[in-house]
Amino acid sequence: MSNVNCGVFLGIGWWSRTNPGKMTIYTSFSSGTLRTADEFRYTVAHEFGHSLGIGDAYLYNNASAANDMMRWNNGVTPVVSQLNIEMVLKAWKTGRFQNFERIR
Ligand SMILES: [Zn+2]
Repeated sequence: MSNVNCGVFLGIGWWSRTNPGKMTIYTSFSSGTLRTADEFRYTVAHEFGHSLGIGDAYLYNNASAANDMMRWNNGVTPVVSQLNIEMVLKAWKTGRFQNFERIR
C-alpha cells in the first residue's frame, strides 16, 4: 500500500493476472493540499505498478534505484526501472505478486 503517496491499492494480498486489484488515487493530500499534476501522475504510475503485480520498494529494497517508481520519490522524478520490468514479467510468468527483497 502507499498511503504515503496518497494512493491506495487494494489487492496486494490476493493479486492475480485476472484479478489485479483496485486503485484509488486522491486529488489532495491528507492535509487538504491539492496535488500537482506531476504528483498525481507519479502516484498513478506507482499504483499501476501494483496492478501489474509488483510491490513497494520503499522500506524493503535498496537494490532498486533511488528514483524507482515503486519507491516514495518525494522531490525526484520517478522512472520505470529495469528491475520493475523484470518483476512485472516474473509476475506475469509465475502468476504471483512480486515483492522487493526485505532489508529489515
Ligand atoms: Zn505502493
